[in-house]
Amino acid sequence: MSKLESLYQEVLAELGEDTSREGLLDTPKRAAKAMQFLTSGYTTDIKEVINGAVFTSENDEMVVVQGIEFYSLCEHHLLPFFGKAHIAYIPDGHILGLSKFARLAEIYARRLQTQERLTEQIAQAVWETTTPQGVAVVIEASHLCMMMRGVQKQNSKTITSAMRGVFLDDQRTRDEFLGLIK
Ligand code: ZN
Repeated sequence: MSKLESLYQEVLAELGEDTSREGLLDTPKRAAKAMQFLTSGYTTDIKEVINGAVFTSENDEMVVVQGIEFYSLCEHHLLPFFGKAHIAYIPDGHILGLSKFARLAEIYARRLQTQERLTEQIAQAVWETTTPQGVAVVIEASHLCMMMRGVQKQNSKTITSAMRGVFLDDQRTRDEFLGLIK
């Protein structure tokens, strides 16, 4: 049994469970495996993922990748938060392959996160890999730590945004993006 597995077994016992009952026999193993997968973003190399997918381009129009589904874990309660990420950028000589935006979101989501940091990290990664005129990321998410416990605000959504370059400097550009993802 791995360290993580035996720790999960301890947690179950501590919660008053009978860890020898049939349904729980393999639970420590499954939970350890699931948690390792859900935090696998720590060991994924962003550069390796992006590698070869940055192309030169004369396009200088806004590119919007809308509604990227993601699942993450809040670092305060280890409970899921999930929702959609919207990413826009205005290239400046370089574009990033479209499928890479979802990959970027996934890598940062598979860590213990806050929604604010997740938003910033995605924006920063696009900013650094494509050096665009600007980048904007908006994330809307539901947090199980809010929905399942405490105040139980079932329908509340948290919205965060991160902007760089022209999205910060030019309100028309920002409004165009926000209008597109409405
Ligand atoms: Zn939380």
